[in-house]
Amino acid sequence: MVYTGRFAPSPTGPLHFGSLLAAVASYLDARAHQGRWLLRIEDLDPPREAEGATDNIVRTLEQFGLHWDGEVIRQSDRHAIYNDILLQLTSNGAAYRCSCSRQQIHKRSNSSLYDRYCRRHPPTAKTRCAIRIRCDRDYPFDDLIQGYQQFSDQPEDFVIFRRDRFFAYQLAVTIDDEAQQISHIVRGSDLLDSTPKQIHLQQQLGYRQPVYAHIPVATNKRGQKLSKQTLAPALDEHKALQLIIRALDFLGQQPVAELTDGTIEECLSWATAHWDIAAIPKQTGIILEES
Ligand SMILES: [Zn+2]
Repeated sequence: MVYTGRFAPSPTGPLHFGSLLAAVASYLDARAHQGRWLLRIEDLDPPREAEGATDNIVRTLEQFGLHWDGEVIRQSDRHAIYNDILLQLTSNGAAYRCSCSRQQIHKRSNSSLYDRYCRRHPPTAKTRCAIRIRCDRDYPFDDLIQGYQQFSDQPEDFVIFRRDRFFAYQLAVTIDDEAQQISHIVRGSDLLDSTPKQIHLQQQLGYRQPVYAHIPVATNKRGQKLSKQTLAPALDEHKALQLIIRALDFLGQQPVAELTDGTIEECLSWATAHWDIAAIPKQTGIILEES
């Protein structure tokens, strides 16, 4: 099987150091395996998206020397495909309509975990509904960086189509990873607990299971994950080389001092030749926000 990796940002704002880590790690793992590296824009949620963010992401990756293979895929172009698979899952009984609000679920079960109420009490045809997939089992998996993963929470019938008429992240990602024949998923460990859900969907749909590697998530001084919400600063293209070297350091790759005198291309080719996924730490150290 040909190694195929991907970077799949959401265009909620410019890339920050946390996104750079995922981009660099997935890029280097693909290149070290002589594999392909694809770019997918996860623009499923228009209200959360920032004007011009997709163009900004594409430009930033180019400035950082992270060149992808093939066309950029945009999830907003793929609704018809998601819809077909959603219909398939509802018509074969794997998924069902749910009209419950967050408050109703909490009131009944005193937790945010869904109690499968609508399995037994199907909403009327006219009610505006989410669609949930039945899930009665857990999916432990081996992660290349984090090791064996098993979640203690009971499996939940999770949402694959939202009540506000958007396709859910878990469904779109699973369909796209199969469509793009992704063999290796290297991404932030904030997505570790999404993985069993995606494996469940893979099994329901007869897809292959990719190899997973979840890198540690960069945090700010207050221990918060770097994100748009925690006001992580946008990557500064003028410091591209420095930031890549910093990302390599964070990923345990021990970049040599001479890299600071070279070009971005030289830095990335050194990093590809020396790439060691086993050197990536499981946990993050504290990272300062200032770049
Ligand atoms: Zn329900």
